[in-house]
Amino acid sequence: MATLELDSITKTFQDGDEEIVAVDDVSLSIDDGEFLVVVGPSGCGKSTTLRMVAGLETITSGTLSIDNRVVNHVKSQDRDIAMVFQSYALYPHMSVRQNMSFGLEESTDLPDDEINRMVSETGEMLGISDLLDRKPSDLSGGQQQRVALGRAIVRDPEVFLMDEPLSNLDAKLRAEMRTELQRLQNDLGVTTVYVTHDQTEAMTMGDRIAILDGGELQQIASPLKCYHEPANQFVASFLGEPSMNFFDVALDGDRLVGDVFEYPIDDEVRADLGEATDLVLGIRPEAIKLVESKSDAHEFEMTVDVVEPMGDENTVYLHFDPDADPESAETLVATIDGFTRVSEGDSVVARIPQDAIHIFDGLTGEALH
Ligand code: ATP
Repeated sequence: MATLELDSITKTFQDGDEEIVAVDDVSLSIDDGEFLVVVGPSGCGKSTTLRMVAGLETITSGTLSIDNRVVNHVKSQDRDIAMVFQSYALYPHMSVRQNMSFGLEESTDLPDDEINRMVSETGEMLGISDLLDRKPSDLSGGQQQRVALGRAIVRDPEVFLMDEPLSNLDAKLRAEMRTELQRLQNDLGVTTVYVTHDQTEAMTMGDRIAILDGGELQQIASPLKCYHEPANQFVASFLGEPSMNFFDVALDGDRLVGDVFEYPIDDEVRADLGEATDLVLGIRPEAIKLVESKSDAHEFEMTVDVVEPMGDENTVYLHFDPDADPESAETLVATIDGFTRVSEGDSVVARIPQDAIHIFDGLTGEALH
C-alpha cells in the first residue's frame, strides 16, 4: 500500500502552433488505502492525470511521488501500479488464466504453482473460477471486466489506477459492479485512483472525489461535502441531477434582486457576501417545497410548465411570473415526492428555504455562502 502525491502537476501537449494545457497545476495527495475518484466533464484532463500517474504520459512540470519517492522518471513497470482500462485490454489469444498470470510471470520469479494458486484465489474472489480456461471472446462484457480486474488484483500492486472501468457495462451490471468494486477495494485496502465522468460513481464510490474542469482542480473533498458545500458554481452544477437552479441576482441592502423576483436574506447570510454585488443564487431542486399558500417572502407564486413523474418522486418545471410566457419566463426545477399531485398549468406556491440556498460570486463563481 502507498500514498500518492501530485505536486503542481502540469501537462501540455503541442498541437501544431497551439499549446494545449491538459492538466493545469494540479496538487493533491491520496492517503494510504484511500479510494479517490477523479471526476469531470469530457476533456477536463482526467485520463491525462491518471496516465501521468501510471507513467504512460510524461509530466511537463511538477512532482509525482508514490510513497514519498519521486517517480517522475521511473518507468511504468517499475512503479508498482496496476491499471484497469475501459476497454479491458485483455489479450485475445490467451485464456483467462494466462491473461491473469502473464504480468506475474513477466515481473516476478515466483514458481508456476505459486502463480497458479494466486490466480485461482483471485478468480474465486471475483466469482470467475469456472471461466479460467476460456478465451476473452467467449465471455460477456461483465465477465471480461472481472478478468481485467483480476489481472490487476493478482499483481498485488501498491496502487490501482482505473480509467472508466465500468462504462462499457449496461446500467444494471454497472450498479452491481460499483458495489463489488467498493467491497473489493475495502477488503484489499489498496490505494485507488478511479477516473469517471459519471457523477453517480463519484458520489457513491469514493472516500473523496477530486473534481476537474479545464485541467484545473476545482475541489477535493468527501462526496457529501462537495455536494452540500461546493467550492464554486461549477462543482455545484456538476453534481446533482437535475442540476442546481441558478439565478443571476444583485445585492441590494438585505435583498437579492433577480429579474423577476426578490429574495430577502438575513444578516448571517449577508455577512458572508463581503463586497460582491453581482451574485448567483443557487438552490437544489430537492430543497424546494410546494406549500399550501404564500405566507412569507421566501415563497413564490408559480405556474407548473411540465411534470415528469419518476415514480417515487416528480420533477416539476415551474416558472415564476404566472402571467409570463413560459418560453421566456425565469424557470425553477423542483423535485417533489411522487404522491403530490400537480399538473401542467396548475398555480402553486414554491418555498425556497433560506437555510438551503447557495450564493456564488457572479464574476469568479466562487462560493460565498
Ligand atoms: P474524456 O472523459 O473525454 O476521456 P478526459 O477528461 O479524460 O476526457 P483527457 O483525455 O485527459 O480528458 O484530455 C484533456 C485535454 O488534453 C483534452 O483537451 C484533449 O483533447 C487533450 N489531449 C489529450 N491527449 C492529447 C494528445 N496526445 N495530444 C494532444 N492533446 C491531447
